[in-house]
Amino acid sequence: MSSPPDIKALLDRNKSQIQTFSSKPLLSEAKAAGTIPPSVIVITCCDIRVDPVEFLHLKAASDAVILRNVGGRVGPLVNDIVALDVFIGMKEIMVVHHTDCGTTHYSDQMIREVVNARVPGSVGQDGTFGAIEDLEQSVRDDVDILKHSPLVRTELAEHTHGFIFDIESGLVKAVQTYSQDPALVQIRVLIEDMKR
Ligand SMILES: [Zn+2]
Repeated sequence: MSSPPDIKALLDRNKSQIQTFSSKPLLSEAKAAGTIPPSVIVITCCDIRVDPVEFLHLKAASDAVILRNVGGRVGPLVNDIVALDVFIGMKEIMVVHHTDCGTTHYSDQMIREVVNARVPGSVGQDGTFGAIEDLEQSVRDDVDILKHSPLVRTELAEHTHGFIFDIESGLVKAVQTYSQDPALVQIRVLIEDMKR
């Protein structure tokens, strides 16, 4: 089995694709041509098995803005979302976590221990690294971050929805979020009380 390419090999690939590369328009040119920017942000995992172009059948680059990180966690992306909304004007957000995510195979404690073994005391007990114990819960929590962030425009927060992508069936299933279920709000309040 061949090894995945290193940076040098990737740069060689870049040089070889110059022949067929098609130039992209400047933002000013796209605007002048009346190109309509995307209105949906899709937040999902960087896992190679989780490609929104495939599972949402995106047909053009302008179909959606895709933000990917480990687990598709919203926390590290809030400022990016705000910048996109101010710059482009977004209308809806999809938070999509997925089955068998790598983040369900490790714990934040495991990462903290390794990092603290390298640099003692560098990460406190509250340091998190995107680990997920319960998929539906992680989707609810991440949607909740946007719904309660003072930085996120209320209208955009109200049009934020949570989903789970099943890597075996290919189906994207909606997750009921706190704002859609008063009973879940009660549970969240109880959990937060217990943490105090
Ligand atoms: Zn994942």
